[in-house]
Amino acid sequence: MPDHPIIPYIEGDGIGPEVWAAAQPVFNTAVHKVFGTAKRVEWQEVLAGEKAFNQTGEWLPQATKDALQQALIGIKGPLTTPIGKGHRSINVTLRQYFDLYACVRPVQYFKGTPSPVKKPELVDMVIFRENTEDIYAGIEYAQKNAAELKQTLIDTNQMAKVRFPDSSNYAIKPISKEGSERFVISAIDYALAHKRHTLTLVHKGNIMKLTEGAFKQWGYDIAEAKYGDQVFTWQQYTTIKANDGAAAAEKAFKAAKQAQKLIINDIITDNFFQQALINPQNFEIVATCNLNGDYMSDALSAQVGGIGIAPSGNINYTTGQAIFESTHGTAPEFVGQNKLNPSSILLSGAMMFDYFGWRDVGNLITEAIATAIQNKQVTWDFAAGIPGATQLSTSDFGAYLQRLI
Ligand code: NAD
Repeated sequence: MPDHPIIPYIEGDGIGPEVWAAAQPVFNTAVHKVFGTAKRVEWQEVLAGEKAFNQTGEWLPQATKDALQQALIGIKGPLTTPIGKGHRSINVTLRQYFDLYACVRPVQYFKGTPSPVKKPELVDMVIFRENTEDIYAGIEYAQKNAAELKQTLIDTNQMAKVRFPDSSNYAIKPISKEGSERFVISAIDYALAHKRHTLTLVHKGNIMKLTEGAFKQWGYDIAEAKYGDQVFTWQQYTTIKANDGAAAAEKAFKAAKQAQKLIINDIITDNFFQQALINPQNFEIVATCNLNGDYMSDALSAQVGGIGIAPSGNINYTTGQAIFESTHGTAPEFVGQNKLNPSSILLSGAMMFDYFGWRDVGNLITEAIATAIQNKQVTWDFAAGIPGATQLSTSDFGAYLQRLI
C-alpha cells in the first residue's frame, strides 16, 4: 500500500451520502492521528446507482469498475435494488464482476449497545458468506419462458415434484466444488490467522443434498486434504466413532482441542438460528452459502444492535480485490433526516484499513465507536434503548468520534 493510496468510494443511494459525509472525515482524522502527515488517503468518488444513472444514464458505469479494479480496493454505501422488476442488484453485479467470493461480516458486541437479548456480549462471530453462487446467481425463469426447463424436468422424471407446474416460476441454485473449496479455504485461513478455535459450516444439506449438502462435504474434504494436522473435523470424529467407538472419538476430539487445532463442524441452518440465540458462544467462524449467510448476518446483527453497526467486506482472497460496504440498505424513509447510524460504513472502513495493513487506523475507529457508545453519545437507533443517552445526528456522531480520536 503506497503512503497516499487512491481509494475509490461510492456514496450510495438513500441515506448513503449522509452516512458517508459523516464517515469520511473520521477516516481522515484516524489516518492523521496514526501517521501524521506521512500518509493520507486520496479519496476518489466513483459513481454507481441513482447518482450514476442521473449523471451518465448507466447504473454502473465502466469507469467505476475500472477505478475499483485499478485500486484493488474500494468502499461503498447502500444502493437501491428494485423488487420484482427493474435493473439487477448493482451490489450483486459488483460481487460477481470482481468475483468477490467471500462476504466477511464480523458480528461483535459493543458494551452498552441496546440489544433484544440478555447476553449480547456472548456474540463474537465472523460470518463468511459465499458471495457469488447459490440462488443469488439470479437465474430465474418466468412461467412463460420456462418451456425448455420444464421439458428437462419431465425428461428427468422430476416434474412430479413441482406442485403447480403450469403456474410456477423457476430459479436455479448453482453451487460448485471449486466455489465451495476456495471459499472454505478463505474461512479456514482467516480462522487460523486470527487464532479462532472453531469453524462451523452452516447448510441445509438435509433438504438440498446435492447443493448445500455437497457444500458441506466439499468443505470437510478440502479442510482435511489441505490443512491436515492443523484441523480436526466432525467428519473425522464420526469416522473414528464408527470404527473405534464413541470413547475413541471423544479422546481424539479432546486431544485435538488440547493441541489447539481448529475444530471444524457443521450444523443445519434452522438449528443454527436457534443455537445462535441460545448459545451464541458456541460459534466463532461460520461459513455458509449465499442465501443462508444473508439471513444469518442480519439476524445476528440484530442481537448486537442492528444493521446500523454491522460492517462487511466482499473479498476475493485469490486476487486481493475487495469492496467494503455498509450492511444496511438505503433506508428510504429516513433520507434527508441526518438521523441514522454511520457506524456500519465506519466499521467497514476499519475493516478495510485492517485489510491493507493500516491496522492501528482501523483500531482507532473501532475504539472511538466503543467509547462513544459507553459515553451514551449515540444516534437515534440506539438512543431510545440507553437510559440517559444523548441522541446525536449522523453528522454530530461523526464529529464526536473525530474529537475522541
Ligand atoms: P434498509 O436496511 O434500508 O432499512 C431497514 C431498516 O433498518 C430501516 O427502516 C431502519 O430502521 C434500519 N436501518 C437501516 N440503516 C440504518 C442505519 N444506518 N442506522 C440505523 N438503522 C438503520 O432495508 P430495506 O428497507 O429492506 O431496503 C431499502 C433499499 O436498500 C432496497 O432497495 C434494498 O434493495 C436496498 N439494500 C441495499 C443494500 C446494499 O446496498 N448492500 C443492502 C440492503 C438493502
